[in-house]
Amino acid sequence: MAGILQRYKAVYGLPDDYPIVSLNEGNTPLIPCEHISAHIEKTTGVTGLKIFAKYDGANPTGSFKDRGMTYAVSQAKHDGASHIVCASTGNTSAAAAAYGARCGMQVLVLIPKGKVALGKLSQAMMYGATIVEIDGNFDEALAVVRKLGNTGKITVVNSINPYRILGQQSAAFEICDELKTSPDYHFIPVGNAGNITAYWAGYNRYQQLGTIKNLPKMMGYEAEGSAAIVRGEVIAEPETFATAIRIGNPASWQQAEAARDESDGTIDSVTDDEIGQAYTRLAATEGIFCEPASAASVAGLIKACQNKQVNNNSLITCTLTGNGLKDPDSAIRLSDEQGIAKKLSLPANEQAIMDAIGL
Ligand SMILES: *Cc1c(COP(=O)(O)O)cnc(C)c1O
Repeated sequence: MAGILQRYKAVYGLPDDYPIVSLNEGNTPLIPCEHISAHIEKTTGVTGLKIFAKYDGANPTGSFKDRGMTYAVSQAKHDGASHIVCASTGNTSAAAAAYGARCGMQVLVLIPKGKVALGKLSQAMMYGATIVEIDGNFDEALAVVRKLGNTGKITVVNSINPYRILGQQSAAFEICDELKTSPDYHFIPVGNAGNITAYWAGYNRYQQLGTIKNLPKMMGYEAEGSAAIVRGEVIAEPETFATAIRIGNPASWQQAEAARDESDGTIDSVTDDEIGQAYTRLAATEGIFCEPASAASVAGLIKACQNKQVNNNSLITCTLTGNGLKDPDSAIRLSDEQGIAKKLSLPANEQAIMDAIGL
């Protein structure tokens, strides 16, 4: 299927000659999660949840960032830009590098040294970006990127670029188009808070167009060690193994709070342990391998059910923001630590293997 700008050309009001730079992003699977629902029923008593994972790890560069990047880069092309720049915990740089490569732009990415998952770094390298590793975290990288943008010579494609947020609205459109209604609750990880802002805008747009009647409650989850919005203060040294949400000063802070308040939702935090449990549970019981930050949405759902914040029989969507292959180190470490992987050393002998697995 065509990418999101082609598919939602009318919703976005794009002219026919708009220069779309696309990798056929979007149209990602909305996967029912009956095992998570059963687990929640058993452990919290909240019953009858219809849970769907919006698996945005299935995008061309493996994260939802492609939805915003197709629009930001197309607009940069429309405006005649030659260079784009972003600060990134990894996925924004992968998407910027890919879309930039596709239309022949120079791509500059600033990443926090040693804190970018291996898969993401390999992507930026393969797509031929110029990579600057800074001695500092994401928030410091973004501060420099804002200054580079102020020179007027290079277009910033972080989510402070409004076209990023516009493009990311398409995930909410797809969910409503597929469910033929809006969910009751939408659970989503919160890092820089661009995506929760985009979903809320997208659901509102669809309500204005009359495509949906009701709006979901927006349920956003930060990692506990990086929970600036929850704590109400900037965190100078944010920490979490979920590196995509390791952000201490979210750029769309106020918009995220507005989404929470207007939707009567929540922004809360989940611990690394809760994220890690949801991460392996999704893979081992649903067959869905997302990256750690993505699992904050499902960890949040489980926590909200424990706190009795979710009504029985609700229709729930959870955004899974990125592909598990982005971060093989976390996958190997946690599946091992939690005993998810059963690794056996045996002779190359069928009887020994049958004996070991009890058949
Ligand atoms: C960017 C990203 C997030 C955080 O999204 P924000 O829009 O910054 O809140 C979460 N998960 C993954 C995998 C990401 O790449």
